[in-house]
Amino acid sequence: MRQTRFHAPTLKEDPKDAEVVSHRYLMRGGYIRKVAAGIYDLLPLATRVVRRIEGIIREELNRAGAQEVYLPAVQPAELWQESGRWAFYGPELLRFKDRKGAEFCLGPTHEEVIVDLVRRDVRSWRALPLNLYQIQIKFRDEIRPRAGLMRGREFIMKDAYSFDVSEAAALESYDLMYRAYERIFRRCGLDFRAVEADTGAIGGSRSHEFQVLATSGEDAIVSCDACAYAANVEQAELRRSEQPSEPDAQRPSDESTARVHTPGARTIDEVSALLKRPASSFIKTLIIEADGKLHAVLVRGDHALNDIKLKKLLGATEVHLADEARVQAATGAPVGFAGPVGRLDVASMLADHAVSGMVNAVVGANESDHHLVGVSEGRDFKVQGFHDLRLAADGDACPRCDGTLRSFSGIEVGHVFYLGTKYSQAMKCTFLDEAGEDRPMVMGCYGIGVTRIMAAAIEQNHDENGIVWPPGLAPFAVHVLPLQMNVPEVVEAAEQLYVALTEAGIDVLLDDRDERAGSKFKDADLLGIPWRIAIGARGIKDGNVELKPRRGGDAELVPLDQAVSMIQARLRAALSPA
Ligand code: ATP
Ligand code: MG
Repeated sequence: MRQTRFHAPTLKEDPKDAEVVSHRYLMRGGYIRKVAAGIYDLLPLATRVVRRIEGIIREELNRAGAQEVYLPAVQPAELWQESGRWAFYGPELLRFKDRKGAEFCLGPTHEEVIVDLVRRDVRSWRALPLNLYQIQIKFRDEIRPRAGLMRGREFIMKDAYSFDVSEAAALESYDLMYRAYERIFRRCGLDFRAVEADTGAIGGSRSHEFQVLATSGEDAIVSCDACAYAANVEQAELRRSEQPSEPDAQRPSDESTARVHTPGARTIDEVSALLKRPASSFIKTLIIEADGKLHAVLVRGDHALNDIKLKKLLGATEVHLADEARVQAATGAPVGFAGPVGRLDVASMLADHAVSGMVNAVVGANESDHHLVGVSEGRDFKVQGFHDLRLAADGDACPRCDGTLRSFSGIEVGHVFYLGTKYSQAMKCTFLDEAGEDRPMVMGCYGIGVTRIMAAAIEQNHDENGIVWPPGLAPFAVHVLPLQMNVPEVVEAAEQLYVALTEAGIDVLLDDRDERAGSKFKDADLLGIPWRIAIGARGIKDGNVELKPRRGGDAELVPLDQAVSMIQARLRAALSPA
């Protein structure tokens, strides 16, 4: 492609609303343009990257035996009513009516449509396993679309669905997809971890997220420094026996309880600074509303409540901190002064394991501007039970071995999920087994965020000058820069190289613009094409051009007539199957 003909309008300035690197470079490099919040045009450069990602996904899923389909984005409400999700899904689901008043939604995911497809035509165990996938637009009316392609409202997803005769067979399908995902993300050139993930309302199932490690990631994950254990912090288990006891809490329980004045100090940090005691000697009392009922949940001051664990424990569909008025009614004090001692008007009082046996702790006094010190669990208050209720954190013991958990930020680019019979039962997607009995199919679902991969790859691969594409995803393999457009030998050599690379089947962008060398280099760095070949007046006199990898490393002088074979060799090495 000739750059003079190519539509890649670069920007000199960072767009104002761009908070993360990928968003900035995608806008500045002329990859994308914003149409509305969370809705973007993909220009030719971005479209090329998307096609590369899709190509890798297709190859690996086809190899794993999945079959590509293309399902409608517009879905009738009836299907969602059958699964029960029409009522349940909430405002992320964009609903609308057609001219006759019939209700529809724009698909945020396709379980309903695919189950409808399969139940119509698949009747026998002989047709299973079946795995169907598509690469298509999804729409989710995200409450906070952000970071460009990272969290869009309209985005491209690969979604796959497997149908099996039994749980054992479905778990085999799951493993097959898990391994395909590993190959896909490796070929995308991403540094990723597959982490155990929350399975939501469908208990007892299996789920892994594929997380790209990046400081800008929204997800917190922990992974063991000694074994293969890795999990989303929402999911990470904690080893009960190894709950560390803080020195302060190990002193004998000699202090008696005293009421102290803590004017205006509501947060642990504020009270900790005021009383000069470490956060780990505090017990946080959280007044939680779970499906309308109030509970007091205690965690140590330096720990954070894991509301997913709490939700599971209570069997609740919705948990959140109670509002000001309900806290006041339950504790007799404003928010920030709740404590476990004395009267609390709640359905139950639960605590994290780390609170068990704490002595001489600081707690809220259930009275405005007051706390209690010298409080001991068991002596001064009793809870209904101790449970694993907190978020894992850096430095916690690994639940599987003697190692230590380290925490990372991640961007979720893929998700594999064992579904069981949730949808097949609700929507009567059944098959006749060998004995002629009618049984629900056992399902799995598998998503990959195609456009999110583009953003995640940039978050992980960039420098201060622009994008550094992993070769597997790059919009072009080679960027040819003739440095002086007024020197005929330079232009001629560039044209010759352009034709030779194109004939060799290599994606090449030729910067044939009449620009200064400096600005060509700058744009080349911004666009991030993996190899750059610069042709200058001096070098070409001796028949040489300059080959430089975008990822860094030295520029090499190479003979013009060897440039194509050198690029071929490098591409082969970079793209060899993972
Ligand atoms: P998140 O927790 O980030 O909202 P999710 O759990 O809702 O993700 P899934 O329903 O599992 O996501 O969707 C499959 C994949 O689609 C995700 O792993 C992610 O890569 C991608 N994805 C989800 N929501 C978005 C979005 N708003 N914009 C871009 N990609 C997305
Ligand atoms: Mg989501």
